Amino acid sequence: MSKIARRKFLQLSAVAAAGYFVQPAREARADDLPQLATDDPMAVAMKYTHDASTVDAASRANPAADQNCANCALVQGNDGETWRPCQIFPGKAVNAKGWCSVWAPKA
Ligand code: SF4
Repeated sequence: MSKIARRKFLQLSAVAAAGYFVQPAREARADDLPQLATDDPMAVAMKYTHDASTVDAASRANPAADQNCANCALVQGNDGETWRPCQIFPGKAVNAKGWCSVWAPKA
């Protein structure tokens, strides 16, 4: 490897290493994420809807008076946000008024 190629390699490696250490500190923000589409295959499999009021309460495996993404243990982001990240649908944002069959109560 020539001296110039070696120097360029070392420079690029340093930039890549810096990016590696900076990236994990960055949290996913809902407004950075595309909204989960209800026809997404994973959303269909989990019976996701943008509006929990459309779900028949009797069909829920985990009955609770009022289930929605905002009061689910798996939602992320901040209270009050309309679209929030969810641990079940990485890389997508779910509606705070939505619901899916994985809903779990907050501890
Ligand atoms: Fe909403 Fe919870 Fe289902 Fe995520 S896991 S889509 S927050 S009900």
